[in-house]
Amino acid sequence: MREFDYTIIGGGCAGLSLAYELEIHEKLRDKTLAIIEPRAEYKRDKTWSFWRVITHNFEDCVKKNWENFSINVPNKTKYLECKNSPYQSIDSGLFYEKINNKLKENKNIFFFKDISEVNTKDSFIFNSVPSIRKNYQNLWQHFCGVEIETRNNFFDDEIFNLMDFDCDQRESVHFFYTLPYTKNSALIETTWLSKLNNNSERDYDKQIKDYIENHLKLKNYKITYKEEGAIPLFYPINKKEKNKINIGTAGGMTRLSTGYTFLNIQEHSKYIRENIENIANTKGYKISSKYQYLDEIFLRVLEKHPDKMPDIFFKMFKTSPKTVIKFLSNKSNFFEDFSIILKMPKLTFIKALFY
Ligand SMILES: Cc1cc2nc3c(=O)[nH]c(=O)nc-3n(C[C@H](O)[C@H](O)[C@H](O)COP(=O)(O)OP(=O)(O)OC[C@H]3O[C@@H](n4cnc5c(N)ncnc54)[C@H](O)[C@@H]3O)c2cc1C
Repeated sequence: MREFDYTIIGGGCAGLSLAYELEIHEKLRDKTLAIIEPRAEYKRDKTWSFWRVITHNFEDCVKKNWENFSINVPNKTKYLECKNSPYQSIDSGLFYEKINNKLKENKNIFFFKDISEVNTKDSFIFNSVPSIRKNYQNLWQHFCGVEIETRNNFFDDEIFNLMDFDCDQRESVHFFYTLPYTKNSALIETTWLSKLNNNSERDYDKQIKDYIENHLKLKNYKITYKEEGAIPLFYPINKKEKNKINIGTAGGMTRLSTGYTFLNIQEHSKYIRENIENIANTKGYKISSKYQYLDEIFLRVLEKHPDKMPDIFFKMFKTSPKTVIKFLSNKSNFFEDFSIILKMPKLTFIKALFY
């Protein structure tokens, strides 16, 4: 069986981002790389969105940028600006196509369907397949989104809706998320933050239909694309092993309070590329412990008081949107963190320190 200098397990967002980063910086000119990916074909399966707080390699895969957004709870709406860090949406279909076309040019890169097809004894492994133990106490962000087209112009495509809590909460945390790509097309997602132990929350099609037809009052539309997923709001098992680094969700790149992962994956790929020559002895990369700590408290409050969450999210945006965006994108300083903490219900959060 053939051996490779590097093996990437999982050719999804993190695996392909890393391979691309190494390839465009010519780190694979004299090295061989095996990518293990079981999927039969690459097609659009996700929409990755985030505030663009750093530059990245995939500007040409961006479906749309927005400089304005809104958030609402029943009877209250906030309109906010994000000109400095526009919100971007990446089409995973374009992302896979761009990367795979680039990787094909290098004869040192090989794709396999299963790890058993390669010898990994002396290879350095980058693993993006999470190891998750079944635990019904774990919180997840689970969701389903549809892209719709309307016959007539309906949406204001200058502004997206980050969270609409004006919906059935079912003793959980539930909101809708709308990304209007044009005046007559949008991605509409139903999102839950919960323990995934309540199957009744997963009647996603019904929730979306009801939201579109009875809340938005839109009748003439057709569904052109659908995506569904669940992001762990806890860290998968990430054991330290010689000659192996976990990347992506498996490597702890998800921000637990929000599920945002895409830009963290890009920063991790860059860090690995910068240190690739001595990667076995390089310090591990992680999201700052400050955010891990704050997110943990935030999720404790969420678990204990789901009913308070719409208001807590809404209040968070009483701080300037620039500050909140930096906080949610792991770029805030101490004073910015503090100004957000001040907006939170103090007693509830102090109690959460001791649960
Ligand atoms: C539908 C969806 C939408 C999301 N939207 C956003 C968003 O808007 N913004 C954001 O920041 N984050 C978002 N996320 C979270 C995160 O960015 C994505 O989950 C991202 O794809 C994580 O990258 P990854 O490489 O860790 O996992 P994946 O992209 O899932 O890649 C893992 C790969 O491993 C492969 N694989 C599985 N089993 C094996 C095996 N045994 N051996 C080898 N390979 C295997 C899979 O086929 C897959 O290609 C979203 C997640 C989902 C599911």
